[in-house]
Amino acid sequence: MAYRGAVFDLFGTLVPPFPAREHEAAAAEAAAMLGVPAATLSGVIHAKYLDRITGGYREVGDYVTEAAPGATPDQVAAAVARMTEFLRAALVPVPGAIETLTALRAAGLRLALVTNCGPDAPGLWTQTPMAEFFEVTAFSCELGTAKPAPAIYQHAIDGLDLPPAELLYVGDGSDHELTGAAALGLTPVLVTVDLSNTFDTERADVATWTGLRVDGLPGVVPIATASQGVLDLAVS
Ligand SMILES: [Mg+2]
Repeated sequence: MAYRGAVFDLFGTLVPPFPAREHEAAAAEAAAMLGVPAATLSGVIHAKYLDRITGGYREVGDYVTEAAPGATPDQVAAAVARMTEFLRAALVPVPGAIETLTALRAAGLRLALVTNCGPDAPGLWTQTPMAEFFEVTAFSCELGTAKPAPAIYQHAIDGLDLPPAELLYVGDGSDHELTGAAALGLTPVLVTVDLSNTFDTERADVATWTGLRVDGLPGVVPIATASQGVLDLAVS
């Protein structure tokens, strides 16, 4: 099978799993800045997860204000800055990510990002060293639809303008993302990661997975380029 493109998940795939302990610590500090109990801000953040990742909030300040309606603009700004710093620190490439993206691009593959994320992620993503490798980005918060719904994958497929059968989908299995990708005809690859410090530790796509699997991102390169190697042998 000749793969001409790869679609990547973000958290747990290109960067570490969304870090639960660091998130709760940042939310507690932000809540203190707002003058509300930590559980109040954390409660809104978790209760409104689906709204946050599907465009229900235009910016972080909107749900911070919902948690602390009496906060001053300066308090809200400080809390937003703390949560933004948390996410910036979470968007650091995992070991091997840049090398993998470099190798895939060198092999001629075109790359797309498909991520379930809140409204602060797209702006921070563009500041990471990963962004330049990707032709297409599909952020759930901007599209108003999240994995595993077909529309978010279709946005990436349309942007790459490649047949789904020629696309890999690489992810750590949150949100039924692998079965969602397979349903559209992409070839899913599970990246196995340590799930001890994230929120969704029980994942159906991980527990029952029988498809392609890699222990680290560099393992994607031979999968993506295997047929090219066969072709090289055939003509040599
Ligand atoms: Mg993930």
